[in-house]
This record gives sequence, structure tokens and C-alpha cells, in this order.
Amino acid sequence: MAQQSVPPTPTNFAVWFEYALGGSLALRKTIDILIAGRRKFDAATNHELYITYVAQAGADPFGDLPDQLSGLIETAQEFLNAAVTDNRSHIEALGEVSSEAAATGDPRAIIAKLVDELSKATARAATLEANFAATSEELDSIRDSLKAAEQRSNTDALTGLANRHSMDEFLRLAQIAAMERDEPLSVFLIDIDHFKKFNDDYGHQVGDQVLRLVAKVLQEGVREVDLAARYGGEELIAVLPGADLQACTAVAERIRRRIAEAKLTRRATGKEIGSITVSIGVSQFRLAESAEAMIERCDRGLYQAKRLGRNRTVTETELEPEAGAA
Ligand code: GH3
Ligand code: MG
Ligand code: MG
Repeated sequence: MAQQSVPPTPTNFAVWFEYALGGSLALRKTIDILIAGRRKFDAATNHELYITYVAQAGADPFGDLPDQLSGLIETAQEFLNAAVTDNRSHIEALGEVSSEAAATGDPRAIIAKLVDELSKATARAATLEANFAATSEELDSIRDSLKAAEQRSNTDALTGLANRHSMDEFLRLAQIAAMERDEPLSVFLIDIDHFKKFNDDYGHQVGDQVLRLVAKVLQEGVREVDLAARYGGEELIAVLPGADLQACTAVAERIRRRIAEAKLTRRATGKEIGSITVSIGVSQFRLAESAEAMIERCDRGLYQAKRLGRNRTVTETELEPEAGAA
């Protein structure tokens, strides 16, 4: 901290303590990149680091192995222990048979004893096998339901796009990758114009259909490496790794035009209904800033687009200074 002239405040201590512990890979990489790039650890950067990597580092719902799984693993360990103990006792029993054989020399008694030991061993092995099969079936079903739960928790049910939670995670990793590779990263935020009125005029269900259509145009308008997500209500977001502001704006504009050109027909009646438009804000990632800061500029672009008459895209370079804002 002294080397980087970081003031010894409690929050800075928390950040650098985490860095020294190596708990958060993302934090370590971010600080290393900042140091390598000889960037200043000014008040804003220190604050961003704290907010992004320390204050928000909450519990990960998938971080803990579910109790059920730990239970199963314990059971499997017990099976294995039982199998090993069993094998030991067979070996001992066979050892006794062989010493008896040396003493008595009666082959029939020895064979009978061997057969008896072997059949006991087989019975026990069969029980173990059955228990093991049941356990792995249970494991399969747990794995399937975990997969389904993960899928549900990452996907928005209405639009089929990624949800806010998985967008946050994607963006966090994209920020690290952008810093590591020294590549641009941009995002754009879409909000449907006058959607309240549209719902009022045609009903919420038709509104939902429109939202799905906008989501589809968005999904089809971005690349495989990009992420399209539902940000909230009727706001969608796209994260474009490797794209600078200009490239991202071109994609956003193409999508905006496609939406405006789409012909909407009512499924029930087959009748055409009015078109819809969207407004879009675009921003590009700045080194070490938080996702919130980047999206906030998008948001401002979006509201400027609304003010300027909607159905348009405003990038962060076109932002008018905010009167009286912090
Ligand atoms: P603006 O052009 O300023 O964006 O006007 P707006 O009416 O779209 O205003 P705003 O974005 O504040 O309103 C959002 C509206 O979107 C409110 C709600 O009726 C509608 N909405 C939000 N989520 C859904 C949804 O999941 N389905 C439907 N059908 N409508 C939604
Ligand atoms: Mg809105
Ligand atoms: Mg709206």
C-alpha cells in the first residue's frame, strides 16, 4: 500500500488485505494489472475496488456443496471402508483355512470351508454393489436437478435471455479479460418506448409477446461471444467483449432499426398493430471501473435518447453534462 501510495483507511486495508490473502482472483488480477500499467490508486479507483471486490463479495448460492451431496459422499466412503474390512476378514479366514489344511490334510472339510467363505464374501459384495448402484442413481438425479436449477437461475423465464444474475457474472469476467488482454469491452442498454401505453392499448399479454420479440431481435443481432440479457422489466442489455464504442453502437443501431421495422400482428386476430421502437444507451468499459459505473453511463445515454424524442441511440461521448448531478 505504501509503494502505491494508498492511504491507510479501513476500506483500503480491507482491499489490500484481501489482495494479500489472495482470496479473490479477480481482485488480485485487477490490482496486478493496475500496478503493471503504473496506474494511480486515486480515491475513485480505491473506492471502486472496495465496492466491486470487498463490499459485494456475498455468499454464492452454489458455493456450498449441498448437504445431500456431502451425505452421499459419506455413505460412499462407508461402503468403501466396509469393502476393505471385508476383504481383510476374507484374507484372514482363508489364512486359517490354509493353516488348518496343513494340520489336518482333509481336503473335503477344507473345500467346504472355502466354499462357505467364498459364498459369504459374494453375498456381502452383492449387497455392497446394490447399495452402490442405488447411491450413484441418487447422485445422477441430484446432478440433473442441480443442472436444471442452475439453468433456471441463469435464464429469464419470459424472454429466454440470460437474467440479471448471470449478466453480472458474465460482465465481471469480461471486465477482467478486457484488462488482461488490453481489449475494449462495451455494453448497450435497451428500453422499449412508451411501453406502458402499449400495454394499456393491447393488454399485458401482447406486451409480453412484444418483449419476447425484442429479445429475439437482440439475441439474433449479437455474436456468440456476446451476452444478451434481461436487465429488468422491459429493459434489455447486451455485453460485447472486444467491441469499442463505435463497433458497439453500430450493433445497437442495427438492432434498433430492426425492431422499428418489425411488423407486429396480433396472434388472436391476425390484424396488424402499431410498430414499436426502442431507445438505447451505449458505454465502453474504463480500466478498473465497476460494472455499475459503466452501466450508469449507459443509463444516462438511454434517458438522453428518451429526452431527444426516443427511437434513437446515444453513446457516452454524446452525453450532455448533467445539471446539478453528482
Ligand atoms: P418510456 O418511453 O419513457 O420508456 O415509456 P414507458 O411507458 O416504457 O416507461 P417505462 O419504461 O418507465 O415503463 C415500463 C413499463 O413497461 C411498465 C410496464 O407496464 C411495462 N413492463 C415492464 N415489464 C413488463 C413485462 O414483463 N411485460 C409487459 N407486458 N410489460 C412490462
Ligand atoms: Mg423502463
Ligand atoms: Mg420504456
